[in-house]
Amino acid sequence: MTSPAPRRALLGAALVAPMVARAQTAARLLVVGGGFGGASAASYARREYPWLDVTLVEPRTRYVTCPYSNRILAGDRSLADVTHGYDGLRASGARVVHDRAVHIDPVARRVRLGGGAVLGYDRLILSPGIALRFGALDGYDEGAAERMPHAWIGADGAQITLLRQQLEAMPDGGVVGLAVPANPFRCPPGPYERISQIAAYLSRHKPRSKILALDAKDTFSKQGLFQDAWRALYPGMIEWVSASNDGRVVRADPGAMVLETEFGTRHRVDVANVIPPQSAAAIAADAGLADRTGWVPVDARTLEARAAPGVHVVGDAMIPGPMPKSGFLASSEAKAAVAAAAAMLRGEPPPEPVFVNTCYSHVGPDYAISVANIFRADAAGRSFAEVPASGGTSPRGDLPEQRRLEALHADGWYASITRELFG
Ligand code: FAD
Repeated sequence: MTSPAPRRALLGAALVAPMVARAQTAARLLVVGGGFGGASAASYARREYPWLDVTLVEPRTRYVTCPYSNRILAGDRSLADVTHGYDGLRASGARVVHDRAVHIDPVARRVRLGGGAVLGYDRLILSPGIALRFGALDGYDEGAAERMPHAWIGADGAQITLLRQQLEAMPDGGVVGLAVPANPFRCPPGPYERISQIAAYLSRHKPRSKILALDAKDTFSKQGLFQDAWRALYPGMIEWVSASNDGRVVRADPGAMVLETEFGTRHRVDVANVIPPQSAAAIAADAGLADRTGWVPVDARTLEARAAPGVHVVGDAMIPGPMPKSGFLASSEAKAAVAAAAAMLRGEPPPEPVFVNTCYSHVGPDYAISVANIFRADAAGRSFAEVPASGGTSPRGDLPEQRRLEALHADGWYASITRELFG
């Protein structure tokens, strides 16, 4: 897959201003965002295209993965287990700059950082993740999240830690309320894995407690499998309320610990996990890449933003058609974007991308279920489509050995993808 660097001489991968430009021989791939998409892009580029000069910009020095964070709630993982640093990426030869991108100029091909530096690039890969739309639910803002955590962005791990502490402090017999958003949002099965992991904790420590899951949808990912497991593992503990049955939360009152639904029902709860509606992270909107939906439309073949050729947008921030917003897919999209960027830098047509996904959900100890799919882009790059009969979900039924094996496969997936991303 490797090939010599393009023959043209290129100027400084890194700092254009303050003026520390330095001569380089390699084409400059700049990656913004060091999560599943960005770290994947940087590590893959170093591995497969060593002639690329790779710089990754990420404000945090430690990355807390959302995958496996739900297991902290059950007590089966610690925050340290899901926290990763960037030394492995540095060792691969990528330059890692801990700062925030604050301005993208896709015409001049420059990115300004919060600290004032300006980085030039030949191709930019942007994987900044999501923003939470505070205010989309009346009463739910950043302050409210300190009382009713979302725990939907890894950040420094404070939100998932807070949710765990609240569960620990809740008396037996309490009610845990969840507000689950409408599509599209990060990790379609994630809220239901979370419900399951909270149930695993409560059934061990506070078995008289209840979970009230208020949903802005009528159906959800792996629904039959989840609900079978809830009946088998946590009988009578979980009440899931669909949007049609007045499950859509429209207002949160952290003072009174009330979640209020569309038709005015006020649910008083002891612990509230509010997962608000989402959009692409702020930098995508600020750069004019997002459309009216708040997400970024891309060319399905090259992953370039429709509004800015040369800027490949991957991961949760972009509009993926039928593909879910998952870490597995963010990584797959990142590799496709790197391959497209490398080909275009060499003046070659981008290869036909294939996007793969498997989403595991831990429902209980030694009990996991999954959904897998393969997707392709159409030849013109207009849309993504699932390859017919390419995937499916775990079979339903009383299959303890299958569930146990899937839990092991999930552990293997997490270990291998985090090793690939972070070394
Ligand atoms: P992120 O991983 O969020 O990375 C974005 C990065 O960009 C962050 O590190 C951020 O600091 C950085 N950034 C943001 N703005 C800027 C800026 N201006 N400048 C520089 N950097 C910036 N997926 C799975 O595949 N399997 C699972 O089992 C799974 N479980 C999940 C469980 C939960 C509870 C949740 C919430 C999600 C889960 N996901 C899972 C989904 C997965 O976490 C996301 O799909 C994935 O993180 C998306 O990757 P990303 O690169 O788009 O965003």
